[in-house]
Amino acid sequence: MIATRIYNFSSGPAVLPQPALEEAQRHLMALPGVGMSVLEISHRSKAFEDILARAEASLRELAGVPADYAVLFLQGGASLQFSMVPLNLLAPAATADYVITGSWSEKAAAEARRVGQVHVAASTRADRFTRIPRQEELSLTPGAAYVHITSNNTIEGTQWHALPDVGDVPLVSDASSDILSRPLAVGRHGLLYAGAQKNLGPAGLTVVIVRRDLLSRTPGDLHTMLRYTTHAENGSLYNTPPVFAIYLLGLVLDWVRGQGGPEAMARTNARKAAKLYAEIDRSGFYRGTARRESRSLMNVTFRLPTEELEARFVAGATAAGLDGLAGHRSVGGIRASLYNAFPEAGVDALVGFMQDFERRNG
Ligand code: PMP
Repeated sequence: MIATRIYNFSSGPAVLPQPALEEAQRHLMALPGVGMSVLEISHRSKAFEDILARAEASLRELAGVPADYAVLFLQGGASLQFSMVPLNLLAPAATADYVITGSWSEKAAAEARRVGQVHVAASTRADRFTRIPRQEELSLTPGAAYVHITSNNTIEGTQWHALPDVGDVPLVSDASSDILSRPLAVGRHGLLYAGAQKNLGPAGLTVVIVRRDLLSRTPGDLHTMLRYTTHAENGSLYNTPPVFAIYLLGLVLDWVRGQGGPEAMARTNARKAAKLYAEIDRSGFYRGTARRESRSLMNVTFRLPTEELEARFVAGATAAGLDGLAGHRSVGGIRASLYNAFPEAGVDALVGFMQDFERRNG
């Protein structure tokens, strides 16, 4: 019997597509034709090599990854990429530009400062990270090693709706919380990275997509496991990769394809977020925290008149089967994460709960 599933608004690890979970469940004891679980087979087996190759091919197809980019399946979370990006791409005397739009970009910049020079090309901290900077606000360093952005700010609920123009400098994007939620324009990036646990699969897997010419920058004395070249040259099989997470990624990508791919995901995601923002804007009771032009379609953040009401809102929502709505502990408030796999019916249920809560408490 399948346990009842509630609506999971968690920011990550987050809701996964039910068909992917069901297939993993069906085949957990033994993969068809293999007779062993994916959890039990060697990462050097033909069966796993096929799983890895299929996952990579699906990602290449759905994300539109050009042939001159490597796709790497790594561990260590997006947080390890805060270090690996500068360790591989930033020479000590060189400068990398960081656009600071929230606490994850601050953390990324802090690691880069240990490696080389960091120039803050723009920061919206003075506006409490309620917005994404405009192109004309960016002070870009000519000849910078790269420009780093956080494409979706999971905590603050803001998102880049158009990529910045950075000229010939490689654009590096932390796409952890919006990868494959819309078409990606990989070719406009030097490198993209994402922890899988929001839009792609379970925790434990980090995807890196990197233009191959940048791999020549990796310093010769960098530790083996920290080198992009190690993983690129070994097809993500230098050491034991997160096999189950890669398997599930493949199933999630099958689901994304079945939904119509990133273009279709973008339409559905826009509709889901619009419903929630419409409810926030309709009422004077709820107040969105991000400026309209910077609003995220993935993480919808809002406040109630008092923290006491917010606590009651979260508790009442949980009791009503709407889980994971508390904002990040650093900012408080409410956050509804609406990743690809979050069902539209869950948004309708939340809107209904909000109207009812306002009637009783407004
Ligand atoms: N960047 C962003 C945008 C995130 O949302 C997160 C996690 N929520 C991270 C980085 C850190 O990811 P991880 O926990 O995979 O290291």
